[in-house]
Amino acid sequence: MKTILYVFGMGWEEKKALVDRLLEDLGRADLKQHYHLVAPPSETRLVASAQYRLPFSQDDPALDRLVNALEQAGIQYRPERRYTRKELLQAELLYLSVTGVVGERKNDPYDRSQMCPRCWLPRVQVADLVIDKRQMGKKDIAATYTYEVVITERLASLFHEAGLTGYELRPVHHYTSRPEREPVLYQLIPTHILPPMAVPPTRVSPCSRCGRPLLKLFAEIFYKRTDLKRAGFQDFNLTQEGWRLIITQRVYRLLREHKVRKFRVEVVRILEEEQKALGSNL
Ligand SMILES: [Zn+2]
Repeated sequence: MKTILYVFGMGWEEKKALVDRLLEDLGRADLKQHYHLVAPPSETRLVASAQYRLPFSQDDPALDRLVNALEQAGIQYRPERRYTRKELLQAELLYLSVTGVVGERKNDPYDRSQMCPRCWLPRVQVADLVIDKRQMGKKDIAATYTYEVVITERLASLFHEAGLTGYELRPVHHYTSRPEREPVLYQLIPTHILPPMAVPPTRVSPCSRCGRPLLKLFAEIFYKRTDLKRAGFQDFNLTQEGWRLIITQRVYRLLREHKVRKFRVEVVRILEEEQKALGSNL
């Protein structure tokens, strides 16, 4: 795995000077060369649009330090983690991000009395989801803008036949009653909750309303092996640090095998601390 860190908003010379200085402070002046002018100033654009594309190898400590410094300086960034095929096919657990979209939900299916109004947790669902089903199109999996995950009947059967665990299905309804035939869709609701992530190295920050630790935007996910062993995991799992879907290699392979599209995965890192401790004692 390598990470490309995109740093934006570099049209302003002082911002570029700031990032250059941060890189020098980190002892990584070599990265200053990865500055690209994306669009030069023009008649309609007074300031050039530019960015850094900084390559980092796995677990380079400079990456976390740079991200902290950028956050403090209020400079926009976005990491892109790139995995090899082998890495993806060897990962025990993967973070599933559904990229297909079915628009907004048309009802409020949650018990608000238990839900934090800021982070929307815990999500206790008390009614079926209502959407505009036509937005599903030819997709097998998609999510609403508020990240309710919707799957087709085909995918639901595949999950059932494979005996996958850790989820329940709820019917999804169309927002108007229409006479013509509607596709049968289900909402995929993960039911198994993972133990707390390993913090650090996982980057979290507290919810400003309820204090619950929430995964920071773009953060990589780490668990301790000992915690996973204690709590166990199933094929579909939910994280405690915000509503995120974690799947096993079985689910990933099933999606690939059946040519399901419109999703991305990232490797969930598992820290084998016990083995290390044991190794150092031998
Ligand atoms: Zn909250």
